[in-house]
Amino acid sequence: MIDWNQPEIEFATGVVRQACRIAQRVQAGMAMQGLTKSDFSPVTVADFAVQAIVGRAMAAALPDAVLVGEESSKDLQTDEGKPVLDTVTEFVKKSVGEATPEQVCDWIDHGLSEPTDRFWTLDPVDGTKGYLRGGQYAIALALIENGRVQLGVLGCPNLGDNCQPDMGIGAMIVAKRGEGSWLNVLVDPEDQFTRLQASPCTDPKQARIMRSVEAGHTNIGEIDHIAEKLAVEADPVCMDSQAKYATLAAGGAEVLLRLLTPKKPGYKECIWDQAAGSIVLEEAGGKITDLKGAPLDFSQGRHLLKNTGICATNGPLHGAVLDAIGAVCQLP
Ligand code: AMP
Ligand code: MG
Repeated sequence: MIDWNQPEIEFATGVVRQACRIAQRVQAGMAMQGLTKSDFSPVTVADFAVQAIVGRAMAAALPDAVLVGEESSKDLQTDEGKPVLDTVTEFVKKSVGEATPEQVCDWIDHGLSEPTDRFWTLDPVDGTKGYLRGGQYAIALALIENGRVQLGVLGCPNLGDNCQPDMGIGAMIVAKRGEGSWLNVLVDPEDQFTRLQASPCTDPKQARIMRSVEAGHTNIGEIDHIAEKLAVEADPVCMDSQAKYATLAAGGAEVLLRLLTPKKPGYKECIWDQAAGSIVLEEAGGKITDLKGAPLDFSQGRHLLKNTGICATNGPLHGAVLDAIGAVCQLP
């Protein structure tokens, strides 16, 4: 059982709840006036506001901690970015009281550190496209020590309280290495955490496979071939963001595949896209490796440079799924 009063757990759970509220408020309160980053993914006010909130809280609660976040304030500090910065500042103010645009930029840039042997990583809004279309998204915060994730928190404002892959009232999942993966409803912090357990399924035919909604983040044709090889009966379940790991950890699916899109055959996963989700799954009894079966190596900077794609399962099905991947995919 996790000691909920440890400073790092209190910080991470408190700030993820606060971040979820701000993301929801932004969604309810404004049009999605995003800038366009160089990789063309939509960057929203919520991305910046969440990173500002987390940077601010970390500087106060854990002054020596290192944060590696996805965003930087650089684009906000241009003429084009100024209106977005003003809007971000308004939302941050509603959450923390006082805030100036300069402070907001400083708090965002608290996350500009480079990875060290002990650091936190944040995806302020994972699944931006899900967020924009009113689907699943996650606030993902994790602590990495010597290349291994030790603590992960996922805030999933649109998941059901049982992490089923339908829209719900919101869930928060906290996982600590060796101490389990624990679920709480997002809106009622008084509620007791319940321990998550991945599916016990051992029959590949019964497997429920999860994949990204975005075709450009995976290879749908190859996923269909893998499903055929395994004689899987159900159609894949599509979901945005690391909320998929919560569903897998809660036994709502058995397999999660991130194959390589033919458009980006050399794609390397960002650490903040996998860190919190991976420990949430592992601590629920599941298994996660890359497509060749290698463990995820978080010691390589901001990307999983030594890994190719992701294969995540309930555990018992891992070997069968890796075999099917090996038979179907041409891996670099
Ligand atoms: P999902 O919600 O499962 O589609 O995953 C969202 C994440 O996919 C984003 O946070 C991006 O960082 C990441 N992403 C962007 N491009 C690619 C790509 N070509 N292959 C795999 N993942 C990608
Ligand atoms: Mg992401």
